[in-house]
Amino acid sequence: MPTLDELNAAAPETPVFVLHLYSRGMLNRAGLRALGITAETKPPPGGRFERGPDGQPNGLLVADPDPTILYATVGKLPQLSTEDQVVSTRHFYRELNRFGVTSVIDAGGGGHRFPDDYAGSAALAASGELPLRISYYLFPQRPGRELEDFQRWTAENKPGTNGDRLRANGYVLEGGGEFLAWSAGDFENFLAPRPELSDRPKWRDDLTGVARELVTKGWPIRIHATYDESVAHILDVFEQIDGEERAGGRRGFAGIRWAFDHAETVSPKSLDRIHALGGGVAVQDRMAFAGEDFVARYGADAARAAPPIREMLRRGIPVGAGTDGTRVAGYNPWLSVYWLVSGKTVGGTQLADEPNRLRREEALRLWTVGSAWFSGEEKVKGRIAPGQYADFAVLSADYLAVPEEEIKQLESVLTVVGGDPVFAAGPYARLVATSLPPIKPEWSPVAFYGGYARKK
Ligand SMILES: [Zn+2]
Repeated sequence: MPTLDELNAAAPETPVFVLHLYSRGMLNRAGLRALGITAETKPPPGGRFERGPDGQPNGLLVADPDPTILYATVGKLPQLSTEDQVVSTRHFYRELNRFGVTSVIDAGGGGHRFPDDYAGSAALAASGELPLRISYYLFPQRPGRELEDFQRWTAENKPGTNGDRLRANGYVLEGGGEFLAWSAGDFENFLAPRPELSDRPKWRDDLTGVARELVTKGWPIRIHATYDESVAHILDVFEQIDGEERAGGRRGFAGIRWAFDHAETVSPKSLDRIHALGGGVAVQDRMAFAGEDFVARYGADAARAAPPIREMLRRGIPVGAGTDGTRVAGYNPWLSVYWLVSGKTVGGTQLADEPNRLRREEALRLWTVGSAWFSGEEKVKGRIAPGQYADFAVLSADYLAVPEEEIKQLESVLTVVGGDPVFAAGPYARLVATSLPPIKPEWSPVAFYGGYARKK
């Protein structure tokens, strides 16, 4: 990590914001000025601005323990015009295609407001120019008013609605996630102690209200939880609603697709409960980036099966794999695949022990047909077989044969969605003729670096 002094020396006039995992952020002096952060600025609850000897914020933002201060700062960065949103969205999806991605599930995110911040994707879907399939979940942005938001969304929208002009399952509203109620939110900041839901007076009522609203309206759910303690509390609420629904002759959780996201320390007992309630677990490669911090706090033993993927698979729980991109973790799927297969962080620390490392075929299955279950698409996606969409990628090297370390360098040379080439390189380059408009906004670092792990 750079120091604040280095940032200030390198960029005295240009605002710079550097995010360090789910734990800290750094703003140079120009950044503090641009965002108007002074000694009087109040940080959001659970966060703080570190101060220098002069009592002024020195630019270090600390999640203490709540990362809202980091996400709120991301949310305050300059808003893009609708035109810039469309252009940057096209470039981002081309980037995903470059890694061989043909479908994504957007689990929602703090600061990502519906429908305004979806304008870029919605515009591309409406014009039939979306180069991959997207399923997206709505994430309430107003703590304390989540139920109000969901009641409005369930009244005005239907899950399963496809906004893509051309493609089946092209741009689909899926459900509610991945925060349902902010007071029931779990953190993933391994530099700080684990939060206790039971310390918060309103979490149970807030979560019960929203989960009941979604289940009774037949909306799929995904919910973010890092620690088993939080998973167990959330399951208490889900089981109670399920019991009430069944007592009323309705299907309860059996009537919707639902899942936990992350679940790094979920226990065997909680896995049994998730299985009994028909849920899945979506795992992301957060440990590939924050594994060293996790080990420092909880020990190497706890990191051997975090998350305990083998235990999930043994029970027959649906498991999907993903990144925790785009804000903190990267969006490169091959880093996640590498982590699943090697059990190592990107820094080289061995986390998972042998039984918890996946075979390459298993990791690939989680990333394809495994993840397709979560958006209810396992019958049409994830395998190369009759009846499945013609979505596939030709990779730059043989995934099943390359040395393990080289999994991280895999890219696509030909990505095909619905039979249409959407990305092509090397010998296939002529198959995709359309070049994208120049990167906007012009100050975007992508204009300089040219994408993930690239220096053009
Ligand atoms: Zn999450």
